Amino acid sequence: MSDASTAFQISVRELVEFVYRSGSLDLRFQGKSKLQDGIKLHQKIQKSQGIAYRSEVTLSRQIEVFDEVSKAVLLVSGRADGIIDIDGETTIDEIKGTSIFLESIEIDTFPVHWAQAKIYGAIYGRDNNLNHITIQLTYANFESNEVKRLRKIYSIEELEAFFIATVELYKKWLFLKNQWRYERNNSLEGIAFPFERYRPGQRKLAVSIYNKIKTGGILYAEAPTGIGKTMSTLFPSLKAMSQGLVDRIFYLSAKTITKVVAEEAVTRLYEESDQTLKLKSLTLTAKDKICLNEEVTCYPEKCPYADGYFDRSLDALWDIVSNERSFDKDTVVRYAQKHKVCPYEFSLDVALFSDLIICDYNYAFDPRVYLRRFFEFPTEKYVFLVDEAHNLVDRARTMYSAELQKDKFLSVKKQLGQVDKSLSKAIDGINKALLEVRKACDDRGLYISADEKQDIYEQLKRRSGTIEKWLSENHLAPFYQEVLDLYFDIIGYMRISELYDSGYLFYITEGDKNTTKYKLFNINPASQLKRFIDNSVATIFFSATLTPLAYYSTLLTGDVEPEALSLPSPFDTANRKLVYATDVSVKYKDRETSVRGLCQYIDTMAAAKKGNYLVFFPSYAYLKQVADLFETLYIDKYDIIKQSRDLSEADKEDFLQTFDADAIMLRDKSLIGFAVLGGHFAEGIDLKGERLIGVIVVGVGLPMISFENDLIKNFFDYEMDAGYEFAYQFPGIGKVMQSAGRVIRGETDTGVIILIDQRFQSLTYQRILPPRWGKETTNLDTLKRQLDDFWEEHR
Ligand code: SF4
Repeated sequence: MSDASTAFQISVRELVEFVYRSGSLDLRFQGKSKLQDGIKLHQKIQKSQGIAYRSEVTLSRQIEVFDEVSKAVLLVSGRADGIIDIDGETTIDEIKGTSIFLESIEIDTFPVHWAQAKIYGAIYGRDNNLNHITIQLTYANFESNEVKRLRKIYSIEELEAFFIATVELYKKWLFLKNQWRYERNNSLEGIAFPFERYRPGQRKLAVSIYNKIKTGGILYAEAPTGIGKTMSTLFPSLKAMSQGLVDRIFYLSAKTITKVVAEEAVTRLYEESDQTLKLKSLTLTAKDKICLNEEVTCYPEKCPYADGYFDRSLDALWDIVSNERSFDKDTVVRYAQKHKVCPYEFSLDVALFSDLIICDYNYAFDPRVYLRRFFEFPTEKYVFLVDEAHNLVDRARTMYSAELQKDKFLSVKKQLGQVDKSLSKAIDGINKALLEVRKACDDRGLYISADEKQDIYEQLKRRSGTIEKWLSENHLAPFYQEVLDLYFDIIGYMRISELYDSGYLFYITEGDKNTTKYKLFNINPASQLKRFIDNSVATIFFSATLTPLAYYSTLLTGDVEPEALSLPSPFDTANRKLVYATDVSVKYKDRETSVRGLCQYIDTMAAAKKGNYLVFFPSYAYLKQVADLFETLYIDKYDIIKQSRDLSEADKEDFLQTFDADAIMLRDKSLIGFAVLGGHFAEGIDLKGERLIGVIVVGVGLPMISFENDLIKNFFDYEMDAGYEFAYQFPGIGKVMQSAGRVIRGETDTGVIILIDQRFQSLTYQRILPPRWGKETTNLDTLKRQLDDFWEEHR
């Protein structure tokens, strides 16, 4: 029998929504904007009820659930919106804000709302020895502020019976979880590190992560290629799980390839445990990539997987959870098809029964799409393993920024004509407010401020109710999608506006009249990320490039002196030749004259040893300039492949296939790939051994000078007197390190790295370049000899 000593927690709402789910999935319109309004409306109603009304009363009951063979403890808790005691009569009040007309809500329209309030009634009634209680549902319309109250009186026996019946319905899930936790923890306790030995640095990394999970908090770990970051982070987290320090692990990543590596690590652990490992692992796939329809139209009339979803989803869930341990994309889709349920929504349900969730950053950090079922009111101990954490800076800026484009409002208004006056009026109202605010722009058509324009938010808030009402009543209107898209822009903007803090700038840029953009631009995401990180007991940021650390810690958590670990490369540095080329200036103004010199560098590198090489450029334009001349000069001497803009997934795959290790044996000349810094081939790809033996990085990786990058520069000039560094230099060096890191991927790999830019010699760069890279320089006169010597030593 499983261990029943530790209680499982579930909120009253979660419990009733899980067991009494029914009907269809309908994501046409959810009225999510009302979260803040809902809280305010609750408070307004609560305050208006007088002193007999006690608000937000915490209620809980722990019960033992058992049958002949199983036993578990369940803690059911929640907060009743209000409890009213008048003249010895008690009423439990459950308030629900809604956009729906109140006349259309009848006594039993929402059974789940009754179920929630009845559970509160059962807990409160028994705790206070009552013999009956009134259950009241208070529906309040967001727009009209009208209120409708529905009441039923129950004896405590009835409520008690309902509570027991509800828990009974949940029982098999509880036993499943309980038994699984017992088996999982036992099995994890016995797992061994799945390699013969730790690589240099790997043990230190694993131990540091385990200790951080134990003490709680945040750890930054810079771990060069080859240490085996994925296993070094997963393994100690699983060990901590076996000891009850962690309930669920979120492996967060920006790239598909790193998610695949995490899946492979789990498979390896499973195989090495002789297939005894008990761990349920789920990979979440984006909705548009897992959808079974041509078009993502998530409502019952259009999608058979949405139609009746909640009537079938529990059977599907039971089936997959009872029979599978790995919930990868194919497995989720297979079960979704079998039970005719939406695979995306289904995967979110499967997450409830998963120990390890491999997913994109946004499921944990994005206020628009984070997993509410876990993070809205966290009751478990989570660990966040943030892979390739250097990517999170840009991703977080995007997650926490929002913009409105004026032309979208006009376009919808045009389509609407006079079809719906109230909707037209609402959009007009917002449009006028945008026009008014735009007057703040200067002669250049620009307005920048540390403060946002509150008038925009106020108008959006005032008008969004009308748009929601229209959306909820006009699902089949021909321009429904356009209005819905606009509505999502509005909601996104409002939500970000509610988060606006000192890490933001607000700006308006006037294009021509109607392309004006209003943006809440997040520049330092640390405070926003921190709120989400607080949902975890421990968060580990790890990457091969967290240099300089202060840059990343300032932007990810706001820590000036974070707890950090920087590990040396596990590979012998003698296997790598890294040189700085100092005789070609690749600054923007010198590009024209640099082209021939760069061609000579590439030729010298590729002629020194037959093999596969990559050359990274700061832009497609520069790449083309050099590649065109190189082709003219050396078309017969080398095989050449070039990265172009907008490569399809298949094109990217083809590009990488060219670097096949076997192909080099058949080839009679070197292969040179021209690619861009920061692009698809500059990070996350693993060309081991002979697949890649040399890299040239042209330039210091500076991002393009742009309006927003200059805003970042000015912001950090003001904040830290380090604007250029934060906007250009530090992100640039990160890209250089990633590109250089494509070569030497294994213990026996040998290769050359040539960094071409005179700026690498300056003091500013010398300070931030990794000391392990050394200081050896080269030029066109000496490179051939240096490379010949190196390859001679590594024949
Ligand atoms: S299958 Fe596709 S369209 Fe249907 S509900 Fe799921 S995501 Fe939406």
